[in-house]
Amino acid sequence: MIISMKLHSTRQEIEQVCERIRDFGYKIHAIEGEERVVIGVVGVGDVTQCLESIEAMPQVESAVRISAPYKFVSREFRHEKSQIRVNGHEIGGDQFIVMAGPCSVESEKQIMQAAEGVAKAGAHLLRGGAFKPRTSPYDFQGLETEGLKLLAQAKRETGLGIITEVMSDRDVDLVSEYADVLQIGARNMQNFALLKALGRSSRAVLLKRGMSSTIKELLMSAEYVVAHGNPNVILCERGIRTFETYTRNTCDIAAIPALGELTHLPVILDPSHATGRRSLIAPLSRAGVAIGADGLIVEVHPAPEKAMSDGAQSLNLIQFQQMMNDLEPYIQLWKHSRVTEAVAAV
Ligand code: PEP
Ligand code: MN
Repeated sequence: MIISMKLHSTRQEIEQVCERIRDFGYKIHAIEGEERVVIGVVGVGDVTQCLESIEAMPQVESAVRISAPYKFVSREFRHEKSQIRVNGHEIGGDQFIVMAGPCSVESEKQIMQAAEGVAKAGAHLLRGGAFKPRTSPYDFQGLETEGLKLLAQAKRETGLGIITEVMSDRDVDLVSEYADVLQIGARNMQNFALLKALGRSSRAVLLKRGMSSTIKELLMSAEYVVAHGNPNVILCERGIRTFETYTRNTCDIAAIPALGELTHLPVILDPSHATGRRSLIAPLSRAGVAIGADGLIVEVHPAPEKAMSDGAQSLNLIQFQQMMNDLEPYIQLWKHSRVTEAVAAV
């Protein structure tokens, strides 16, 4: 249930409503807004009776039942898009955000070259995996803590915020010491112990769509994080598994505007994992801008032919710079339509 209070209701009035809600056996889960307070309510009980009782309170503007199974991340709960602040940038706002860097952190030289190159080309955040989820146990598993330290060094020297993967609930505190955004990989989208631990974290979370997950399942996973206390979730379309084999995954490009209809959370596109092919990254990125994604996460390596993971889907620094230049006119159009949408929404 979502309860909207009348404008400028007092603390005492809000508390009276919360008390009535608790009397019905429900839990208060979020209180939003400054001018108009919106109370989120979850639990099991007699919804109809509770709604009627709350609606009859004079300080309440409206009380509605949210039909979506994902409550707090739904557009029903919050009509305006959410903006998530990360290292001085706002994701989901009027800036198109680009996260770029290698699949894995491999060495000091590699990550520093990557960081300097992507910063120069206009990226806003540096990506790089220190804990790597690999299909084969014999493949490179990441530099772990040493990799995190190298990312911190890259941040100090370039000012770029850091996004890096966390694979286990046991590592959330460790990775949070170094990362501005905690990346949850496709393979862990439904690791519920991890999602709950992220709910207790103060870091923003990038939740990647599982390779066999529906849009609804992605939203339910986001709901886990938000319901456990962390509202700062960014979603990522990274391709799903289909019968097609030419591309590593099939990019479900329509998921981006579909998610825009269903949720207020920002949505970004990963053209690298969605295609597995370097040649397809720039055209897919253009499509991502055109379709209204909030940003991109792109694999970029100073020497992709030597990469320890995902070299075939990584751009080199020159290619990345070229792509950023080529995207610029599209990003200008994107900004224009953001302003138009914002005006229309008022
Ligand atoms: C990655 O970003 O390097 C990665 C492993 O992505 P995904 O979880 O989408 O496969
Ligand atoms: Mn990768």
